[in-house]
Amino acid sequence: MYFDVFTLFPEVFPAYLETSILKRAKENDLLEVHLHDIRDWATDKHHTTDDTPYGGGGGMVMKPEPIFSAVQEILDIPPICPLVLLTPQGETFTQQKALAFSKLPRLALICGRYEGFDERIREHLVTEEISIGDYVLSGGELPALIVIEATTRLVPGALGDPDGASDDSFSSGLLEYPQYTRPPVFQGWKVPEVLQSGDHAVINRWRRNQSLLHTLQKRPDLLLKIDLTDADLKVLEQVVYESEIPGSDSIKKIIKQRKE
Ligand code: SAM
Repeated sequence: MYFDVFTLFPEVFPAYLETSILKRAKENDLLEVHLHDIRDWATDKHHTTDDTPYGGGGGMVMKPEPIFSAVQEILDIPPICPLVLLTPQGETFTQQKALAFSKLPRLALICGRYEGFDERIREHLVTEEISIGDYVLSGGELPALIVIEATTRLVPGALGDPDGASDDSFSSGLLEYPQYTRPPVFQGWKVPEVLQSGDHAVINRWRRNQSLLHTLQKRPDLLLKIDLTDADLKVLEQVVYESEIPGSDSIKKIIKQRKE
């Protein structure tokens, strides 16, 4: 997968890109990240990339000319691949979005700074807008790294274990089941016996049930978005009717609908 990143701070990327899974993905020719310093396309003596906002107000706004010129030279206009503006106003980035991105051969990201972008970049240049969550950072560099990492993990071959991402939280629409490693007893707390039984069918069912219960406790909203089997509904029903879990009313409604 090939990423183009347009940024005013290319120097913040290499340390992270040269670590762990991303480093290995690069070494295995599964990932290429090309960093483009927007300042290189500023034509004035001081390489200015920002200016004061029309209408007044505090802060500076990223000028359109250097960003349009950079994109024109690297990707052409309209761009030859999806061009994402990183902004808190965008569509929230999810595992499903990362999966969709991982199927693309090339993706370009524009990182903002200051008070954000001249609106004409949003209106006439980019193909989509992505936010990494409902909070505001000082720049789009961390969001870009987040998009690159979440996407690259899903490129076939990027994780050592080919099934590594399939059980991760959100991949199946549920949160992941609890994980344990040695020792079997730590400070008196035991690893559940079922995990040491060697019976994979039983282990898989236990994991699915635990995923359902964790999701019910921590993110009941996710259960409303996925297809649940009859066995899943039975597990949820038992818990929902026995305890007061926030959000369980909506799950009760689903269980009732499914039974009708
Ligand atoms: N004034 C802008 C607004 O309210 O929408 C926020 C500008 S922010 C201080 C500077 C830059 O950081 C943004 O242009 C964007 O590239 C990046 N950024 C900040 N928070 C982000 C988020 N939650 N998701 C994606 N990018 C973000």
